[in-house]
Amino acid sequence: MKRPPSTFTVLLLSVLVVVLTWILGWVGLQQLVDRQHLSEDFALWFAYSLLLLLLLVAGSILLINRTLVISGWAALAERETQRGRKIVEAAADAIITFDSLGRIESFNAAATKLFGYTPQEVLGQPISMLIVADDSSQIEQLVHDAVPTWDGRVLNNQSMFKGRHKSGNLISIELGVSKIIDDDRKVFVQIIRDLTERRAAERQRRLQYEAALQLGGASDLRQAGPAILQAIGRATGWPVGLLWEVDHQQGLLRCQAVWIAHEQMRPFVQHLGQQIHPPGSDLPGRVWLRRECRWIGNLAGESTLSARPIALDYRLNSALALPIELDKQMLGVLEFYGPHIPEPDAATLNALFPVALQLAQFIRRKQDEAALRLAKETAEAASNAKSEFLSSVSHEVRTPLHGIVGLTEILLSTDLTPKQREYLELVQSSSDTLLALMNDMLDFAKIEASRMTLEAIPFELKPALEPTLKTLAVRAEQRNLHFHWQIGPQVPDWVVGDPLRLQQVLLNLIGNAIKFTPLGEVHFSLDVAAHTSREVVLRGCVRDTGIGIPADQLSLIFEAFSQVDGSRARKYGGTGLGLTIASRLVELMDGRIWVESELTQGSSFHFTVCLGVAEPPRSETQPVAALEDWASPCDDPAVKGKNVLVAEDNPVNRILLQLILEKREHSLTWATTGTAAVKLFSESTYDLILMDVQLPEMDGMEATRQIRAMAREQKRQPIIIGLTAHASVEDRRRCLEAGMTRYIAKPVQPVDLIQTIDDLLRHPPAMHQSGLS
Ligand code: ADP
Repeated sequence: MKRPPSTFTVLLLSVLVVVLTWILGWVGLQQLVDRQHLSEDFALWFAYSLLLLLLLVAGSILLINRTLVISGWAALAERETQRGRKIVEAAADAIITFDSLGRIESFNAAATKLFGYTPQEVLGQPISMLIVADDSSQIEQLVHDAVPTWDGRVLNNQSMFKGRHKSGNLISIELGVSKIIDDDRKVFVQIIRDLTERRAAERQRRLQYEAALQLGGASDLRQAGPAILQAIGRATGWPVGLLWEVDHQQGLLRCQAVWIAHEQMRPFVQHLGQQIHPPGSDLPGRVWLRRECRWIGNLAGESTLSARPIALDYRLNSALALPIELDKQMLGVLEFYGPHIPEPDAATLNALFPVALQLAQFIRRKQDEAALRLAKETAEAASNAKSEFLSSVSHEVRTPLHGIVGLTEILLSTDLTPKQREYLELVQSSSDTLLALMNDMLDFAKIEASRMTLEAIPFELKPALEPTLKTLAVRAEQRNLHFHWQIGPQVPDWVVGDPLRLQQVLLNLIGNAIKFTPLGEVHFSLDVAAHTSREVVLRGCVRDTGIGIPADQLSLIFEAFSQVDGSRARKYGGTGLGLTIASRLVELMDGRIWVESELTQGSSFHFTVCLGVAEPPRSETQPVAALEDWASPCDDPAVKGKNVLVAEDNPVNRILLQLILEKREHSLTWATTGTAAVKLFSESTYDLILMDVQLPEMDGMEATRQIRAMAREQKRQPIIIGLTAHASVEDRRRCLEAGMTRYIAKPVQPVDLIQTIDDLLRHPPAMHQSGLS
């Protein structure tokens, strides 16, 4: 707004106008006097009268004008002042003015809102009442320094201070002080911005970040708790923090973490941390029960709290505890002590509750993980129990079955009538089927318990597979099927792997092909799919012209106990385990198995296996000539009439062994426990020991170890043959480690046993140091 012209200017202009008008009047008058011949006196009188008139007119105009201007300007100025006041009142920031002595002169509405005082309460009061001591002295210093120089500059530019609310609570403020001249007086203006919310939001973010950081890397509350309590303690100024977790089983709160600002307070938290709280007991228990935040401003008045006396000893006069809760389930409690904990305002709770929620989520996650672990362990234990059960049942069934198989074979080697022979052969085939089933069950139990391991021994591939293929050919022939096989020229002669398990895969796939092919042919081929210097991947294919498999069953048949349909199962028999075992065995050989099939047209089962490449042994030991007939009499003194100690507890097996061994006229000494075997060995000399692995009192392994130790002292080298129903790699290793010379898998095949004994008697092994032959 433009200011009005000054009084001096108006006066000067008026005089100028009067003088000019008078000069003009005077000049006009002189001409009139000359022309009209008027008297000089009249002219003079007229001139002076004119001058007076002009002066009067000018003065009046000046006076009127001045009055009008001034009153207009006064109204305008008043309006401006009003507007300024309104602006100050409506300002979002607190605006406070104070004089050079620091006395408050004005206090706007935002200041009232920020500090809680009305203007009447603060006007004339020192500005220091609004600022905490340290900060207010800084402001006083600013004002003090600024008083002598008066240049209207800003004293400080937006610094952070702590203000004090009327309630005593501290508030974060950003404060700028400047000085102005008002009515020639020096006045200081403070413009204050409330930072409490911003600070609270920042604090909340910091706390949440810290909690996330700690909980992210921690395995339990004990690990993360102290750092989180410390972060809260530092942000709030509360020197003691405890973190409690609900023990749902015991129905108690247990302290998981503590934090103290000063080491002197250690005994206090130790005292508190050792306590346990049922719902309702002490401060944490009350929070647990009520599920709400609890603040105690003055502990002195809380006589029922057990922490009270010791807290007061440490000048911890107030406490605050809040629930750690998720989905209405109490999971823990946060507890704090301090000399003065103000009643928690919204900002404080807004900072603490998100952290409590993070803690709750962490506790819940850990609880879920523990429950999951427990469930997994329980499931594993149940599965192990099932496998154990399956394995022990099948073992229990296998033992008598071995007796039946063995005795049938012995009986078949005696003179029989044709009818007896026919019946016995039926017994033999039934017990073979039963034994195969038991073996499947045992294998499946091993697979389920992930205990199936494979051997890795060098073997000659064709000789290892051909007996199996020949047996299958006989089976096919009996069903009028044409079975032929082809082993590719690239397939190496020697490989490293588990020959028995490879045979098992072929037995299953080719056996199924024969079983499910009423007419036509079955073909097996084996080729090389890939070859490196160290490994060879073999690809096998069993193709038949049988009944085929429906398309929707193709992926299911590899699952345990799955058969295409009930009618087939009834017609063809089987357990539905064969393919499961075969596919697992193939997987263990780093291969895979898959099938292509068309209903009524036939099926093709493909598989790959990865085997090691082996060099043929340089000095091949002469293979022992296969026994044509183990039951025929033998005249070789090296292998007959020896002293044999037999440790076997099963009566059927004893009869079986006796029937086999008497063919060589050995004299037998029997032991039914491991202890008895060791005792007998210490008392006498034996050419050979047959040791069942599963003996009562002391098992065959331990008995072997003791006999071996005794023999070492006496410089003897007994031949010990282990008889084991568990013919896995691990069992074999354990047998040999215990000191057995060889081992024979049960059911004992007479020919195998006779051949092994003959072989060892003819070529006794060299000095037996470690027990490994
Ligand atoms: P099992 O033969 O003991 O029943 P398997 O696991 O070996 O168990 O086979 C599962 C099922 O897959 C068989 O019951 C049969 O229905 C089907 N199957 C397997 N091989 C063939 C095949 N070559 N031709 C037709 N069906 C087959």
